[in-house]
Amino acid sequence: MTGDHQVLIKDKLLGRGLPILVQTMYDSAIPHDNTEIDTLIRRIGKLNSMGCDIIRFSYPHKEDHDAFTTLCARSPIPVVADIHFDYKMALDAIECGAHKIRINPGNIGAEWKVKEVVESAKDHGIAIRIGLNSGSLPKGNDPTEMLMSNTALEYLNWFEGWGFTNTVVSLKASDGDVTMKANRLFAKQSDYPLHLGVTEAGSVVSAITRSTWALGQLLSEGIGNTIRISITGDIETEVQAGVELLRTLGLRKKGIRIVSCPRCGRHSFDSQGFLASVEQDLLTIDKDLTVAIMGCQVNGPGEAKAADLAITGIGNSIFLYEKGELVRKVTASEAKSALLEAIEHAE
Ligand code: SF4
Repeated sequence: MTGDHQVLIKDKLLGRGLPILVQTMYDSAIPHDNTEIDTLIRRIGKLNSMGCDIIRFSYPHKEDHDAFTTLCARSPIPVVADIHFDYKMALDAIECGAHKIRINPGNIGAEWKVKEVVESAKDHGIAIRIGLNSGSLPKGNDPTEMLMSNTALEYLNWFEGWGFTNTVVSLKASDGDVTMKANRLFAKQSDYPLHLGVTEAGSVVSAITRSTWALGQLLSEGIGNTIRISITGDIETEVQAGVELLRTLGLRKKGIRIVSCPRCGRHSFDSQGFLASVEQDLLTIDKDLTVAIMGCQVNGPGEAKAADLAITGIGNSIFLYEKGELVRKVTASEAKSALLEAIEHAE
């Protein structure tokens, strides 16, 4: 079964019984300008406070060497270099200080090139992800899921033969069913950690729905050590979705759990607008609290009784509740700061 084998990525240990980690992948080229690098480091810091544990970058050009070296040194979370085709770029990324590289050995070329990459990773004490996608597999007549699992097992054998075991595997397809079958097959035969994802899953709604359906089942079966919800959208949403999935499954505790009513004809408080204004702040608060944002004062407080804090209102009169008790009345313009203040003081 997957997970008994442990893998170290900088300061993050993967394995059975250890926290499931959330990953994302930077969606643009690596910036070279110092001001832009500063901005990116701050953005990674925010992603980290939202619950992101690992970030991956495409590393296709030698010209990125200096900027990537800076990123690897300054990032508050481990940095992964994503390499395709050119083994020299993998060697270069390792020299930059990447904490893990992701390769598909099948597109690196000759076996000796893969071996050089693996030996360099071993010398530098970093991890490798063998990342296989259903669209880039060796030819074969077996069903896709079997081909994916068997190919990964074969590459793991190569790596072990070269004395390297700090390896994570990912088997991704755009079809959630194939993704699940491939990961289940692999997990029956190997205890190496798995990074889970449904690839090319579409825009926000379809990506989250497909990924949650597949990853939720695998994680519930004890399969998977890191996850990425791949979205054709922004990386903050990827992280939010990944963290929310883990929290929903009871696999991550910390963070604000937001309860908000869908609104109905009775709503007299713009819960949708209020949630949009405050959500980014709530996502970065590292407290285990439930906060309810309710649309009316008729049912809102009652429905929010189970929450640590609740907010609702009528027109310009906004009411704040703690454990179901009314504690404060403020104006609409004071509502956001009143809620954040209450969260700050909440135990
Ligand atoms: S809290 Fe009020 S506005 Fe929201 S769904 Fe319930 S009754 Fe409707």
